[in-house]
Amino acid sequence: MPGLRCTSEAMIAQPFPASAWTRSKPPLLRFLDACLNEFSAETAGHVADYIPELSKADPAHFGISLATLDGHVYEVGDSRVPFTIQSMSKPFVFALALDLLGANKVESAIGVEPSGDPFNSIRLNAENHPFNPMVNAGAIACTGLIHASKGEEAFEQIRLALSRFAGRDLAFDEAVYTSESQTGDRNRAIGYLLKTNAVISDNVAGVLDVYFRQCAVLVTARDIAVMAATLANRGVNPVTGEQVLTPYAISRTLSVMTSSGMYDYAGEWIYRIGIPAKSGVGGGILAALPARLGLGSYSPKLDKHGNSLRGIKVCEALSSHYDLHMLNRSDDARNAVIADYDIGKSPSRRVRRQQERDILAAHEHAVRVIELVGVLSLSAVDYVTRRLAGQPRPQIVVFDLHRVTSTTRAGARLIAEAFEELAALDVTVVISGVRRASREWDSLREWTAELKNVRDFYLLDTAIEWAEDQIVYRYGGSIDFHETTELSEQPLLDGLDAEELTDLASICAVRTYQSGAKILSTGDPADVLFFLRSGAVHVTLPDGVRLATLTAGMAFGEMALIETTRSADVFADMAATAFEVQLKDFERFRRQHPRASERIMRNLAQLLADRLIVANTKVDILTST
Ligand code: GLU
Repeated sequence: MPGLRCTSEAMIAQPFPASAWTRSKPPLLRFLDACLNEFSAETAGHVADYIPELSKADPAHFGISLATLDGHVYEVGDSRVPFTIQSMSKPFVFALALDLLGANKVESAIGVEPSGDPFNSIRLNAENHPFNPMVNAGAIACTGLIHASKGEEAFEQIRLALSRFAGRDLAFDEAVYTSESQTGDRNRAIGYLLKTNAVISDNVAGVLDVYFRQCAVLVTARDIAVMAATLANRGVNPVTGEQVLTPYAISRTLSVMTSSGMYDYAGEWIYRIGIPAKSGVGGGILAALPARLGLGSYSPKLDKHGNSLRGIKVCEALSSHYDLHMLNRSDDARNAVIADYDIGKSPSRRVRRQQERDILAAHEHAVRVIELVGVLSLSAVDYVTRRLAGQPRPQIVVFDLHRVTSTTRAGARLIAEAFEELAALDVTVVISGVRRASREWDSLREWTAELKNVRDFYLLDTAIEWAEDQIVYRYGGSIDFHETTELSEQPLLDGLDAEELTDLASICAVRTYQSGAKILSTGDPADVLFFLRSGAVHVTLPDGVRLATLTAGMAFGEMALIETTRSADVFADMAATAFEVQLKDFERFRRQHPRASERIMRNLAQLLADRLIVANTKVDILTST
């Protein structure tokens, strides 16, 4: 199958060959299948035999597994065949040591430079410390530090940590351990060299015993994929959800895997494949692509560097086919803004009286709304701040974060700095879409708690409505919910003469509702019209979506003129009174006053047209920003 060997450029131009596709499998699984089929033909290389027990491995075994960061695990071939983890234990034990003993202690004992030597080289750096934790000297030093601190418990601690990375309890292979223990004099020599140089304090035999045991922990390709995915996921096991180790330990571990993970092939590896990885002489390869995936492969035949031959091919194919080289990335921060408008373009759903409408129309740029989506990274927030600066300065900015999935630490820091700047300019910030007491809320508050100019509302519409109210207050308007209005002030009745209004009033009853009362229910017969006389009500769909807030002087239930059953609920926001007229009486009134009837229907058409314009603008804003 030529597709798997193509360079990334060629692969982009040429889709994965159709012949390799079988029905009803996700594409990634088909890809792994194709790798398995193609690379099974590869029989070169040698099974490691310097640890005698390893030579018993079946060279035909070949398993591949890929774990995604949402916790899905793909597996093909011998992905459940156990084998010993060997050097793939090194990154995890290094990460464990960083968290268990503190970075200072570990980093002052073990370097992070590539050695350029084979993994089992008996050579230290100029300071007589191991070059890095991925070569045997560094790994033994690491185990030695844990041993010095935990003594007898050291191996169990390591085994438990490896198990948490894998998401299951891992056993170890007594025979491989014994075999290495009986033959591992080179590693013992390294141990004594470390002791002479005070990198490990004492008990070389005890340290080596733990090291040989850790190398003999049994894993499968599936385990390795999940362990790699945990590294790729800032230390959170995507299958169990457990935060196994800190993001600091994980990121530093990935760093040394990047520079030194693949024996003396590490430079070439990162150049060509571009995915942090670690291999082991047992035939495993672990590859962890940060924020994307973890890959585990098992095939015991090794190349001259000690890396699994088929495993290397799988990683090469994965990287080139999907163009995954980690240094070949780009991101467009502009995608973070899904909508950007002011209240002139898209006001809240609050139906306002003329005086409020006039004030808001005169100050439509005073409230700016920016709806954001995805991850708020440093570049996304930077882009938003520049976008904000390029326009007339608003008095209030609403940032809607409903569609924001997360904020990076850099993004959060920049948000805090931007809010501070806005505060200095007297701009009020309103956040919507983040539930209080959620993780997102906590992380936002971590950065913005100090800031006085930040308000929050869960619903975007409530946030915009609040912002509009501030503008109305600032420019001399008042919103008097207790004010009582007359029928003559109703836009729906605009143009009716005094006699017509008196006749209409005579068939109206005035009713009072307590705050929170449900005035109308979806599905009820639509047989009454309401003219709100005082207070405020809101209209919602049964799923809770708020359609409008109405204050004194506005009609609701007016759709009874058109529809036969109610299509929304209406609740009193505060104590409210309404003129109510039965539909049958109203129809009689219309027959008696044909001129008034025509005016009312024209007014209704106008009100509906206005609502449609607002609704269309909202849809348009989202699709065109
Ligand atoms: N236990 C093996 C050793 O120390 C691990 C080597 C490896 O996988 O690279 O020789």
